[in-house]
Amino acid sequence: MQLTRMRPEQIQDAVRRHVPVVIVAGSVEFHGPHLPVGTDYLIPQAVCDGVEARVECVVAPPLPFSSTMAWAASPTDGEVDFEPEALFVYTRALLRALAAIGFRRIYIMQHHQGPEGLPVLCLKRAAAEVVRETVHGWGAGWGRRPPEELPLPGVFSWIQVAYIDSFSAYPGPEAERIPIGHGGRGETQLIQGSLPETVRMGALASLVPLPPWLADAEAAVPAEGRRWLEFCIAGWAAELARGTLAAAGSQ
Ligand SMILES: [Zn+2]
Repeated sequence: MQLTRMRPEQIQDAVRRHVPVVIVAGSVEFHGPHLPVGTDYLIPQAVCDGVEARVECVVAPPLPFSSTMAWAASPTDGEVDFEPEALFVYTRALLRALAAIGFRRIYIMQHHQGPEGLPVLCLKRAAAEVVRETVHGWGAGWGRRPPEELPLPGVFSWIQVAYIDSFSAYPGPEAERIPIGHGGRGETQLIQGSLPETVRMGALASLVPLPPWLADAEAAVPAEGRRWLEFCIAGWAAELARGTLAAAGSQ
């Protein structure tokens, strides 16, 4: 359920039953002339929509902007190289606010630049600072106490920054992994599989020469995109379903 559509008593019930919160994070960045600039935001949003339809969760307003370093294009192409410090401060404020409401299971679903990228570092720094603020009142040496005696035993995993496939189980080390790339086959078919009306494959011809990362875009298969989205949704749904208590009245 969207946080902004919930009434106070619904929010208090969700807090009491440890319902998880999901925040979608991405970027607004040129992904080729055939894809929308919000591709990195729209893909995790599609996963989040699928998860929300399947398991109980609170979806907070998203974080669509992040640093792109102007890698792919200029602002006139829709590229937004958002200030990393602003993302960090905004995210920290958002996490503080969600914590103040009482939420104790918060997931940021991120899809841009990978695990070592600047956007992820900003999000993880914000999460770590809110964790640090939380434990400050517990007294020095709190880690010596038995975890079950702490006010929040799982404090280090309380806020997680994860990817669209972080909770999906690949069959084995040699298994086919979800193709991502940048605007090429991987992301093109993920957008074809979720928001086909935003894709215009014919527009690829307007970019000459094509950068190497767009060379395989024509090979995108919408059905494969839908298969990968389902793979991601199933993993997130299983993760979020863990730990939520039964509906009020049955406890
Ligand atoms: Zn992308």
